Amino acid sequence: RVDRRQRQMCIRDRHQIKELRQEFMKADMTVKPGRLIVLSGPGGVGKSTVAKKLREADDFWVSVSATTRKPRVNEIHGRDYFFVSEEEFSSMIANDEFLEWAEFAGNKYGTPQKQVEDELRQGRNVLLEIEIAGAKQVKQHLPQSQLVFLEPPSWEELVARLEGRGTDGAERRAERLALAQEELAAAAFFDVVVVNDQVESVVRKLIELAQN
Ligand code: ADP
Ligand code: 5GP
Repeated sequence: RVDRRQRQMCIRDRHQIKELRQEFMKADMTVKPGRLIVLSGPGGVGKSTVAKKLREADDFWVSVSATTRKPRVNEIHGRDYFFVSEEEFSSMIANDEFLEWAEFAGNKYGTPQKQVEDELRQGRNVLLEIEIAGAKQVKQHLPQSQLVFLEPPSWEELVARLEGRGTDGAERRAERLALAQEELAAAAFFDVVVVNDQVESVVRKLIELAQN
């Protein structure tokens, strides 16, 4: 049997819970959501170089993708990518864990959804550095996202950067160049086009975009 005193305490607890919930809702609504910037462009143009600089600058939370590609020298699991097996990637798709995913040069890449949403909700700007098909998917799901296309100063410079990076064999490089030619045509779909002549100036432009 519940006596009078216990009943009063229950009512008081319920009141407190209700008040706390209202406070929490208010707090959540007052946080202005962060901006979602999607950086894309042809392979070798300098996307990951720019993303790395932005990670240091602290204006953005830079998303870490999952991929089935093997790690390159100097790449670290959890920092550069989550390197997963085909099976793990498939189960992430099945569990609806990706905001977007795509296949690129024989490997799969995807953006884990949850942390992107959490960071945006908490008011942090988020940067995704992804290829073009994925960028289009993000725009469909989140139309408020800003798609930025990074362009090389010239085709010759793009070839030089891919060769200079030295991460691919001749055959892989030829494949990536053929793909890059197709990718360059996608600029028209993007909200903003930025030429990557100087990494620092691209970084400044992206920070400005997130602030506007
Ligand atoms: P992506 O991620 O678009 O495939 P990377 O960031 O790996 O491209 O860059 C490809 C190569 O180009 C790297 O060797 C990088 O150091 C170089 N690079 C990037 N940005 C510039 C720039 N503004 N000027 C000269 N070289 C650059
Ligand atoms: P790389 O193998 O050179 O690291 O990346 C190859 C391509 O995959 C790049 O164009 C890179 O931007 C893209 N990429 C990296 N992560 C993702 C992702 O999560 N989703 C998509 N769609 N592309 C990604």
